[in-house]
Amino acid sequence: MGKPTGFKEFERKTEPYRDASQRLSDYNEIYTQHDDLHLQTQGARCMDCGVPFCQSDTGCPVDNLIPEWNDLVYNGRWKDAVERLHKTNNFPEFTGRVCPAPCEGSCVLGIIEPAVTIKNIECAIIDHAFDEGWVNVSVPEARTGKKVAVIGSGPAGLAAAAQLNKAGHAVTVYERADRIGGLLMYGIPNMKLDKGIIDRRVQLMRDEGVEFVTNVDVGKDVDVVQLKNENDALLLATGATTPRSLPVDGRNLNGVHFAMEFLTANTRSLLDSELKDGNYIDAKDKHVLVIGGGDTGTDCIGTSLRHGCKSVVNFELMPRPPEGRAEDNPWPAWPHIFRVDYGHEEAEARQGEDPRTYCILSKAFTGDEQGNVKSVTTVEVSWVRSEETGQWKMEEVAGSEKQWQADLVLLAMGFLGPEHYASDALGIDYDERSNYRAEYGRYATSIDGIYAAGDCRRGQSLVVWGINEGREAAREIDVYLMGNSVLP
Ligand SMILES: Cc1cc2nc3c(=O)[nH]c(=O)nc-3n(C[C@H](O)[C@H](O)[C@H](O)COP(=O)(O)OP(=O)(O)OC[C@H]3O[C@@H](n4cnc5c(N)ncnc54)[C@H](O)[C@@H]3O)c2cc1C
Ligand code: SF4
Repeated sequence: MGKPTGFKEFERKTEPYRDASQRLSDYNEIYTQHDDLHLQTQGARCMDCGVPFCQSDTGCPVDNLIPEWNDLVYNGRWKDAVERLHKTNNFPEFTGRVCPAPCEGSCVLGIIEPAVTIKNIECAIIDHAFDEGWVNVSVPEARTGKKVAVIGSGPAGLAAAAQLNKAGHAVTVYERADRIGGLLMYGIPNMKLDKGIIDRRVQLMRDEGVEFVTNVDVGKDVDVVQLKNENDALLLATGATTPRSLPVDGRNLNGVHFAMEFLTANTRSLLDSELKDGNYIDAKDKHVLVIGGGDTGTDCIGTSLRHGCKSVVNFELMPRPPEGRAEDNPWPAWPHIFRVDYGHEEAEARQGEDPRTYCILSKAFTGDEQGNVKSVTTVEVSWVRSEETGQWKMEEVAGSEKQWQADLVLLAMGFLGPEHYASDALGIDYDERSNYRAEYGRYATSIDGIYAAGDCRRGQSLVVWGINEGREAAREIDVYLMGNSVLP
């Protein structure tokens, strides 16, 4: 433990984002430069608890050795810190930027004081390591002669590929998109995760021996059964890519899109041509309505504002969360509290108010004669707890109908599960939510030699859970192929 009295002496101070008004004029990352000295001080706040909840159970899904690297950072031992960090996390440069940091929600200091700034410290360790040239190619000393195909190149597929390659297997990652990264590449926008950071890691993996094949839709362009037969094991890491729709009148009007259509096209056009090719859905001069909150909704808000939309509003069906933990949401569980994310802050800077409206249900879209969406009709809802079942029930508030102007509507209401065309051909079982059935910790599907990890197995989730499942699935596959495993 670096400084026994650190948590008493220093206040939590997170690294600031760039000024909201300024960053709206570009797609560069929202973050400011790391200040090593500041982070050493923040690291000193770690109490090195006997039972570090941050790194286990309700905390970090990859079990990052948080108190150890906090101490190393406090003592200026950045190189040792990155070695510790890489023991548990293949891609800390991704999680250090985009993870919502469940670790901080379960930090023991958080019971009485604001938590340690764990995520900032993680990001600084790995960024420092890349700057110093400490992250190098490490080719496995021996090859096993076994072949593994990974379908999907999101965090789950990438983490599994990195680990399986370390174990000496020949790994090929198949991706139907034109770039590697899954939702890291085409979901999360550049301002939250610069795409050069993904390419840098993918290049390292290539140099270490992982093969990447893009623009190949397995199950359509390639026979998935043949792929299975040509490999010793197959990992499905295809994500939860079926979006939830809103089946109301006017859903098919022009200008009503799934969030992913909007976000994917924007990033692709940005990377291909800095948005000069015009191959994206333009929010410029439009009244934008984003239906659904969460990360996807926030990313739609931030992107629309950068296009130069006339206005943006965000509808949430649920009530506004409380400022602090509710009684039924105690530490160390994830705090369900009101948060202001980067897109909300930017909307406030541009429009003078937070874009979110709570307890609101969209009932219908109305269009003009050309079939373009022009407005949405809503109704307010209230949430009532049933005395019999204890379940919350939604009720519409009579007389609360309202019309909102909207000429671009983005549906960000989550995802229903994975697509089934490749998995149907393989004949694997599904669970009751249509995910690929495979037990957490085992990852084996109902067909011998076929594994599943990430959002296609657990449903829509987080980058850090994808990394966790990819790593663990790699170990299970290694055991399947070799009888035992040296992988963690
Ligand atoms: C807009 C948005 C923002 C998000 N922001 C955050 C955030 O800030 N922080 C966070 O932690 N999480 C965030 N998430 C969630 C996170 O991105 C996902 O949980 C995570 O990427 C899931 O990883 P995965 O590897 O399981 O799948 P994915 O990342 O979805 O990758 C699956 C890949 O498989 C490919 N694929 C599918 N089928 C085939 C096939 N048949 N052949 C070839 N390729 C195929 C897909 O094209 C895709 O590239 C966000 C999600 C979205 C949609
Ligand atoms: S990966 Fe996420 S949960 Fe784990 S230490 Fe980093 S920020 Fe915290």
